[in-house]
Amino acid sequence: MPDLIDLHCHTTASDGSLPPAELVCRARESGLKAVAITDHDTVEGVGEALAEGERLNFEVIPGIEISAEIPSGSMHILGYFIDHTSAELLAALRKLQDSRETRNQRIIEKLHSLHIEVSYEELLRVAGGGQVGRPHIAELLVQKGFVPGSQEAFDIYLKKGRPAYVEKFRLTPSEAIKLITRAGGMAVLAHPGSLNKSPEKVEKVAGELKAAGLKGLEVFYTEHAPEQTRGYQRIANKHHLIPTGGTDYHGDYKPGIKLGRGRGSLRIPYELLADMKKKMGR
Ligand code: AMP
Ligand code: ZN
Ligand code: FE
Ligand code: FE
Repeated sequence: MPDLIDLHCHTTASDGSLPPAELVCRARESGLKAVAITDHDTVEGVGEALAEGERLNFEVIPGIEISAEIPSGSMHILGYFIDHTSAELLAALRKLQDSRETRNQRIIEKLHSLHIEVSYEELLRVAGGGQVGRPHIAELLVQKGFVPGSQEAFDIYLKKGRPAYVEKFRLTPSEAIKLITRAGGMAVLAHPGSLNKSPEKVEKVAGELKAAGLKGLEVFYTEHAPEQTRGYQRIANKHHLIPTGGTDYHGDYKPGIKLGRGRGSLRIPYELLADMKKKMGR
């Protein structure tokens, strides 16, 4: 059995249900050899996770997942080995967080106009601190009985094109890559499968982003079919991008996804992390 890892995990600092220290502890208990913390647009969970890793003598990689803007929707850029204390990084993230707050308030207003009576205070209570996002709004709608489940909340109200959708300020993919790179990190294109593009288009995008400093491609991912995984591995090889992998663990917010295992069959070998570290001179 090779050593396994998980390089894509969310904590209560964004929209995961486990606090950072708890996530690290669970990763170790489940037999993984390393875990990366990759919260949406924030590094607020990184310090706690690194401290817990040190305490348990368990490898924790500081990371982030930045939501970038593309014409067809969004593209997520992962950053690994970032200096989570970088002033430039923190200033850019503060701007993203401010726009997120305004957006959440506007979503609540839109829901009111649809006679869905939920308050911003209730939303903050559901989110329980940290970054507040649409999954929390979905959870609130479920708790208050407006929808049977979180997916219905997105499908009926919250996703793009639905009546309570609100745009938020975002970086372009190349701005996100440069921000990560300047903070000492390695930028990786997250879950290429969710771009809903043909392999040829993904290859073109990956090639273009490489010019902005992209270093890796998230080849191994919970929602990638075996054929997609093989295709992305080929693209990574061809463009000298390091293949990475993770489950996109969100705890109770995505109940079907297990740490390090995804929906059961995902295996992410430690060798990927070894290659990443080699590339970054660590
Ligand atoms: P936010 O950052 O507030 O825009 O929320 C983004 C998160 O919402 C993603 O990470 C997903 O977990 C979830 N999400 C976005 N779109 C959908 C969708 N169509 N169906 C279910 N969950 C979604
Ligand atoms: Zn999320
Ligand atoms: Fe993502
Ligand atoms: Fe994610």
